[in-house]
Amino acid sequence: MSHRVAPHRIAIVGAGPSGFYAADGLLRGDPAVKIDLIDRLPTPFGLVRAGVAPDHQGTKAVARQFDKLLAQPTVRFRGGIEVGRDISWEALRAAYDAVVVATGMVIDRRLGVSSEELPHVWGSWRFVAWLNGHPDFRSGPDLGRAKRVAVIGNGNVAIDVARVLAKSADEMAKSDIGTEAGAAIAAAPLAEIEVIGRRGPEHASFTNNELAEMGRLARAVAVTDATALDAAVPATDPTPERLRKTKNLEILKGFAGNAPGSKPITLRFRFHTPAAALRLEDYDLVITCIGYGGADFPRGDGIFPVGWAKRGPNGTIPTNRADSHAVMQQLLAWLKDRAPKNAADPLPAAIDAAGWQRIDRAEIAAGAAEGRPRVKLTDWQSLLKVAKG
Ligand code: NAP
Repeated sequence: MSHRVAPHRIAIVGAGPSGFYAADGLLRGDPAVKIDLIDRLPTPFGLVRAGVAPDHQGTKAVARQFDKLLAQPTVRFRGGIEVGRDISWEALRAAYDAVVVATGMVIDRRLGVSSEELPHVWGSWRFVAWLNGHPDFRSGPDLGRAKRVAVIGNGNVAIDVARVLAKSADEMAKSDIGTEAGAAIAAAPLAEIEVIGRRGPEHASFTNNELAEMGRLARAVAVTDATALDAAVPATDPTPERLRKTKNLEILKGFAGNAPGSKPITLRFRFHTPAAALRLEDYDLVITCIGYGGADFPRGDGIFPVGWAKRGPNGTIPTNRADSHAVMQQLLAWLKDRAPKNAADPLPAAIDAAGWQRIDRAEIAAGAAEGRPRVKLTDWQSLLKVAKG
C-alpha cells in the first residue's frame, strides 16, 4: 500500500521582495512545497510598500506579481507575527523543514558625528517609512520652518528623499504618499536642498534615470559646481559601472549650466564634503541616506538568508529575483533527501491574505475618491480592524 508523503514546509520570514522571490523560486523548483510567508506587519511587500518612493508607482507595481503568489494554494501569508516576540526562531526551526530569512535591513547607519543626535537629523529609514505611511513611523520631522535641507549620501535613496521633498503637490498627486507627510511637505517653505557626497561625482552610486529625473522637476532647479565634474571615472571599474558613471557626469554637467534660484527650490549637488566638514546646525532638516544595518538572526543548518539580510543593503528589487532564486535552488537541493517533519502548525493567529486584501481594497477605494492609487491606513488599530473585517 502506498501513501502520500507530506510536503516539505518552509517558513519565509519577511514578506518583502526577497521573501516573495524566494517563494517564487521555491514554487518553480518544487510546486508541492508549502510556504508560510511571515511578516511582522499586517501588510505584505516590505520595502515595496514602505521603502520605494511613493511617487515611483511603476516600481511599486511589482506588488501585483507578488499578489499572484499569495493566490497560490500552497502559499499562506501570516501577517502581524513578529519572530522573536510572538514565536521564537527555535520554534520555527523545529516545526519547518527550512527557514528563509528575508528580514532586510531596518536600522539607519550612523554618520559618526556628535551633531547627528540633534532632533532635526533623521535617518532615511525613519524618514522614508514616514513618507510611506508605515504604522511604526507616524510622526515626521517638523517641516513648518524647513527652508534649508541637507540630504547626506550619494545613492538612490538620497535621490528619492531629495526628489520627494522637491516635487510640487501636483507632481505628488498621483502618489501614495502618507496623507500627513504629503501635506507637511506641500506646506513647508523649502528653498534649498543639498545632496551631499563625501567623495567625488565619479564615485556616486546614483543610477542614470534617477539622477536625470532631478533635472525635470517643476518647482526645483538642479545645480552643481562645474569644477567638481572634471573627474575621471575609475578605470578599474567594470564596463557597466564606467558607462553609468560617465553618463552621470554628463547629466551633472547639464545641471552645472542651470541658474540657482531660477525656480522656487534650488537642488544643489555638493561633492567632496564629508559629514565632519558640515555644520548640521546650519540646516533646518538633515536626512542621512548612508545605508542600513540589520537585526540579528540565527545562522546554521536549515537557515537560508536572502536579499539584504544576506548581502547587505545593496541592490535593487530585480537584483533580489536572481539572488533569491539561486538560494532557493540550494535550499531545495539541501532538502531533497530529508524527510518532511510534518510538525503541527507552530504559528499564533495571524492576518492572512484575505485580511490583507481587505486592507488593500479599503486603501484603493479611499484613493479612488482622491484620484490617487491608494490612501494608506497608517495606524495599527485601523489596519487590524480592517484586516479582521
Ligand atoms: P548606496 O547606493 O550604497 O549609497 C549609500 C551612500 O552613502 C554612498 O554614497 C556612500 O558613500 C554614502 N555614505 C556611507 N557612509 C557615509 C558616511 N559616513 N558619510 C557620508 N556618506 C556616507 O545605498 P542607498 O542609497 O541606501 O540604496 C540602497 C540600495 O537600494 C542601492 O542598491 C540602490 O540602488 C537601491 N535603491 C534603488 C532605487 C531605485 O532604483 N530607484 C531607489 C532607492 C534605492 P561612499 O560611496 O563614499 O561610501
